[in-house]
Amino acid sequence: MKVDLHTHTNQSDGSLSPAALLQLASDQRLQLFSITDHDTLAAYQDIDSAQFDAMSIVPGIELSTQWQRHNIHIVGLNIDITEPALLDGVNRQKAARETRAGKIAERLQKRLQLDPEMLSEVRVLAGNNQIGRPHFARYLCEHGVVDSFEDAFKKYLGPGKVGDIKEDWAGLDETVDWIRQSGGDAVLAHPLKYKLTRTKLLTLIDAFQQAGGKAIEVINGQQKPDETDFLAKVSVARNLFASCGSDFHTPDHRWNAIGSQASLPAACVPVWDNW
Ligand code: AMP
Ligand code: MN
Ligand code: MN
Ligand code: MN
Repeated sequence: MKVDLHTHTNQSDGSLSPAALLQLASDQRLQLFSITDHDTLAAYQDIDSAQFDAMSIVPGIELSTQWQRHNIHIVGLNIDITEPALLDGVNRQKAARETRAGKIAERLQKRLQLDPEMLSEVRVLAGNNQIGRPHFARYLCEHGVVDSFEDAFKKYLGPGKVGDIKEDWAGLDETVDWIRQSGGDAVLAHPLKYKLTRTKLLTLIDAFQQAGGKAIEVINGQQKPDETDFLAKVSVARNLFASCGSDFHTPDHRWNAIGSQASLPAACVPVWDNW
């Protein structure tokens, strides 16, 4: 089965509209598909799932959270996008994202002596949707402050840098709980992207499971076979369902192309077996 349960549209930091992304997924013959924008469900107001009868669309979201000063991402799948506790949570995250954008702008302005109006320009780059660090990265590129998008993260936006602000996000327990209350499954996104030691990662997984987390992403975009093996073993050993997704943001990033990932190892129990 062709499955992709982690993708982004222009309602967060992706480049395609929700309709264009679904069309692309359908052209690629995906059978099970989710849009999981950062801290917003806006894409789901905009789509007509009935138009794609060969593809099941699973409602999803990717929530930003903080755990022990790390910025962790929790994907919620098979959620009820009308459930009040989830909607309250998402509204809080939206407000947190706005507050954070103001702080990032202030810090970058101070550090780099940028135009005091930069935030309004970043807002335009975000198409007046959710502002994320990628929009700040684009601003820095377009104003010649950095040589590349990657460089912007390396110098100013990535972990531990001046624009890395995470204290506004809700805690791990809360975000997992919003997903549970909406009848969905909480999935620990891209466990190897946090650069935690193996011991610390297993501590995170303990906390995630205690909070009610049900699955981990065994496949996220292109990754090395030994990484997939490790995550598959963790999912089996911890009795966690396994999820998989491209983390698609834009057709320009061919390594995150939709439908191009390896399939889940046979030992894993797919999260969709639970639906
Ligand atoms: P935010 O939601 O504002 O915390 O921004 C996080 C997003 O920035 C991620 O979902 C990625 O799309 C992007 N991102 C994070 N780190 C990097 C990096 N090193 N290079 C490029 N993009 C990144
Ligand atoms: Mn992103
Ligand atoms: Mn993520
Ligand atoms: Mn993502």
